Amino acid sequence: MDRILVIGACGQLGSELTNELGKIFGNDHIIASDISKPNSAIQGFKFEQLDVMNADRLAEIVDQHQITQIYHLAAILSAKGEENPQWAWNLNMTGLLNVLELAKEKNLDKIYWPSSIAVFGPSTPIDNTPQHTVMDPNTVYGISKLAGERWCEYYFEKYGVDVRSIRYPGLIGYKSLPGGGTTDYAVDIYHKALSEEPFECFLSEETYLPMMYMQDAIKATIDLMQAPAKKVKIRSSYNVSAISFSPREIVASIQGHIPSFTATYKPDFRQAIADSWPNSIDDSEAKSDWDWNPAFDLDKMTNDILTHLPEILGDFQKA
Ligand code: NAD
Repeated sequence: MDRILVIGACGQLGSELTNELGKIFGNDHIIASDISKPNSAIQGFKFEQLDVMNADRLAEIVDQHQITQIYHLAAILSAKGEENPQWAWNLNMTGLLNVLELAKEKNLDKIYWPSSIAVFGPSTPIDNTPQHTVMDPNTVYGISKLAGERWCEYYFEKYGVDVRSIRYPGLIGYKSLPGGGTTDYAVDIYHKALSEEPFECFLSEETYLPMMYMQDAIKATIDLMQAPAKKVKIRSSYNVSAISFSPREIVASIQGHIPSFTATYKPDFRQAIADSWPNSIDDSEAKSDWDWNPAFDLDKMTNDILTHLPEILGDFQKA
């Protein structure tokens, strides 16, 4: 019987993934955990407060709840990481190594750990970036994700730990606020549009980045985790791709629904990070190994967000 621990369950991805795992396995088979106190998005789940840096507490929770799988999502993201590189490196590396070591010692069934397009750098081919290519990340976040990918493959090859990973592009969801990444503008922009406020974008209008709607990210994660082990041929991390757009294009997509919406552009330090990342990603290996296929393009995503975000916008404004 699967019993799943989600680490970082209060975050942008964690809160949605925890709910989806609950639908598949039953809420009583999921333990949500985070360094923060539980929030309303993960109501209905058992919760354990956990700093993933504390390996003893992690082992205690795994034993107490007879955990068989861990989704380890806690990390410091790209923009926040540049503000405190040592902190980001320590959390992103020690957290992952604590989880991998525990999986080895306790023979856990499966581990999920997300990587990012931040593993690519200025020398990486920028269009349709291949799965296997030059990787020279120049942010502490990207360096930690690339090192993490190598550790995942190492634990799989040396110890047989069934660890699986996806290099997410920028994730766009409307149910929670993002945690400090370079693609966060593409979430904030919908909040501003619905609040009838002008939007000031921290990237230039022609900055193309690979992005993905949260529903597709959840689907990719579940599809990969449910694939038979023999189909998971890449044990570092899979390229996945969905949408690639610029700030100008997302503004135009929103203007299709809200013609009065306007945006201005004032690039800050995040522009240099965005410039070091690909425009678009080649995900043919994910497609052929475990049948990855995204469902949302830009306009379908805009339509879905502008339909559903108004139902919960008041909760964000109160918070
Ligand atoms: P987030 O910042 O929204 O959530 C991270 C969660 O981890 C937070 O709830 C935070 O409280 C928790 N956390 C932080 N330190 C912790 C610690 N020491 N112990 C336990 N919990 C701790 O981030 P997210 O956007 O949900 O990202 C989740 C994962 O997906 C990360 O590994 C991130 O690198 C990866 N990812 C995200 C994106 C994106 O666009 N959001 C893109 C690529 C990869």
